[in-house]
Amino acid sequence: MLNYTDSQINHFQNTDFESTDFQSNDCQNLSDQDFDRIHLWHPYTSMLKPLSTLKVKSAQGVYLHLDSGEHLIDGMSSWWCMIHGYNHPLLNQAMIEQIQQMSHVMFGGLTHQPAIDLGRALLKTLPSHLQKIFYADSGSVAVEVALKMAVQYWSAQNQSQKNNIITTRSGYHGDTWNAMSVCDPTTGMHHIFGDNLPKRIFVPAPQSRFDAKYIASDTAELEQVLAQQHQHIAAMIIEPIVQGAGGMRIYHPEYLHQVEKLCKKYNILLILDEIATGFGRTGKMFACEHADVQADIMCLGKALTGGYMTLSATVTTTHVAEMISQGQAGVFMHGPTFMANPLACALARQSIEVLLASDWQNQVQNIEKNLSDYLKPLQDLAQVADVRVLGAIGVVEMQQAVDMQKIQALCLQYGIWIRPFGRLVYVMPPLVINQQELEKLLSGVQEVVKFFV
Ligand code: PMP
Repeated sequence: MLNYTDSQINHFQNTDFESTDFQSNDCQNLSDQDFDRIHLWHPYTSMLKPLSTLKVKSAQGVYLHLDSGEHLIDGMSSWWCMIHGYNHPLLNQAMIEQIQQMSHVMFGGLTHQPAIDLGRALLKTLPSHLQKIFYADSGSVAVEVALKMAVQYWSAQNQSQKNNIITTRSGYHGDTWNAMSVCDPTTGMHHIFGDNLPKRIFVPAPQSRFDAKYIASDTAELEQVLAQQHQHIAAMIIEPIVQGAGGMRIYHPEYLHQVEKLCKKYNILLILDEIATGFGRTGKMFACEHADVQADIMCLGKALTGGYMTLSATVTTTHVAEMISQGQAGVFMHGPTFMANPLACALARQSIEVLLASDWQNQVQNIEKNLSDYLKPLQDLAQVADVRVLGAIGVVEMQQAVDMQKIQALCLQYGIWIRPFGRLVYVMPPLVINQQELEKLLSGVQEVVKFFV
């Protein structure tokens, strides 16, 4: 019994269809590809016109092995995460050993070795003033936690009016309600969500490029707004040095330095969102080290577990943590079910150890050199608006948005995997990528960019 007629299936394959309103258990008879397209909602994807997806069978090192037999070099590190490559023996081993002890146990009133060991490993890598660690589920939740910490911090000092958040445009901090409220209002389409979305204070994104002269007026509006409204602002949140999904912009360290100064001057907390940049991606362990800036609260995620599974951490100073604990609630008001999941903690601790034992600074330097060699010359093409490189991040900003369906076909042709958005074609390969793989990836990216004349 099959409720989906052949013509309906063909309709889906053309991707130009209108509705998929089927309510039958006979979906079990669909091919995997059709089931995926009809029933599974992918990130930022239309259920009317979903782009086709490539089915991954397994992954090893920097390679994604597709069901269809192709092998693609992953230029995305599965969205910044997979720094040591797929199927890493030590990371696998850490999971196997932990799963034989326990996969999960609640963190309220109980503790465990993986949480403690990960805490120790984090304190070895973090700036030394950050001493208190709150484990959470995902990057977005780490941001929620950071914002709540900032609000509770001021509430504990009887300054509950200091409860709004300031940030820059072109930022991205996640997809949950409050995280979204501090994403760029235009690319985050704030208007769609109406008046319920908290109204945050936005200042212009920094214009000073990482590799150019600092423009002193970059913080002028920030200073003006802080002077007028600091009594109502709990914290400023910003992605240090690299604004990721909000535009892949790489800005001058001096801007961050000035932000730190202004936060101190106007008595607001500084939250650094290192979720995308942390663990070596920009050439420093944490991107804030480019500017020698000290966050009051820092958010970590993505590469924290070497990309194997979800876990995040919001870390803060003893002062902030103790102030929160002196407040009306007497506690920090957050406690996710899967807080400090032992499997994830064991993995994250192993990932940090693998990173610290590796030659990651030289690896990132070599990736940066190759990114510059292969991508910078593309700047001369008419279809390219700008090229930016920092550490293991390479961005080619096109004049026009690129066609994702065509990109996928080109990826298959060149044996690479990239997933541009809008006008941004970018790569951030696993840090372990070797020279030969890097050359293949980047020559593929060159061909993709040249295709869109
Ligand atoms: N902050 C930044 C800077 C990010 O890049 C992301 C994810 N792209 C997030 C927060 C949200 O993380 P997650 O997707 O794990 O919720």
